[in-house]
Amino acid sequence: MAKKAAPDIEQREKLYEGKAKIVFATNRPGYIVQYFKDDATAFNALKRGTIVGKGVVNNQMSAALFTLLGKKGVPTHYVATLSEREMLCRRLDIIKIETIVRNVVAGSLQKRTGLAEGTPVTPPIVELYYKSDPLGDPMINDEHVRMMKLATPAELTWLKRAALKVNSVLVPYMKKRGLLLVDFKLEFGRAGRALYLGDEISPDTCRLWDAATATKLDKDRFRQDLGGVEEAYQEVYRRLVDRAQ
Ligand code: UDP
Repeated sequence: MAKKAAPDIEQREKLYEGKAKIVFATNRPGYIVQYFKDDATAFNALKRGTIVGKGVVNNQMSAALFTLLGKKGVPTHYVATLSEREMLCRRLDIIKIETIVRNVVAGSLQKRTGLAEGTPVTPPIVELYYKSDPLGDPMINDEHVRMMKLATPAELTWLKRAALKVNSVLVPYMKKRGLLLVDFKLEFGRAGRALYLGDEISPDTCRLWDAATATKLDKDRFRQDLGGVEEAYQEVYRRLVDRAQ
């Protein structure tokens, strides 16, 4: 582990292994390490594969964007980058809601509405999904959130506002780097009495199109067998991490 970033942190036992990340405990109870893998899944894990170098891209892109968002007043779980695939994070009790923000029609919104892919969504919209692998992450509304006690009304209000704030920070940031932020998924969690943005922000969790050509530079290349998957992740890395400042 990089000594400079977190001198007294030691990685401990594996807490959880997900589709794209492994979470480890540390010697400090309020902190965990996220290890980013190259494994890729789609369609609720029916499609599986490897995207070489993805873990490095996702870790470092997430670090750059969490740092940016922190400066803009969005609290995130990011603490430090420990290595090219490892991130030290505040440990969160994850709220079981996937919050999706959309600026342009694609994916499930296209299917649900019949609108053409690429149609602008103005103003941007926020959607909620129940984070449940066995159920395949179904879409839910505020009343289901209340019924299932996934979050309090105050938490839900905060979470939606934070999601739109994230969008308003990321859209111009990406536009400056030649990327159209089509849509993205966020996860939030609790630590003590505060809420934080958690998980990752990467080409796995965002749709990113080249601003000039609308070429897809995200996980849709893997989902739709478009080829050039690794190259797309590397291009996003070049635009958002190499030129992060
Ligand atoms: N997304 C994600 N994890 C999920 C579902 C969606 O990161 O479990 C992201 C996806 O990459 C896209 C956005 O959320 O950027 C909207 O996804 P959509 O609802 O269109 O579903 P999809 O077509 O990806 O199944």
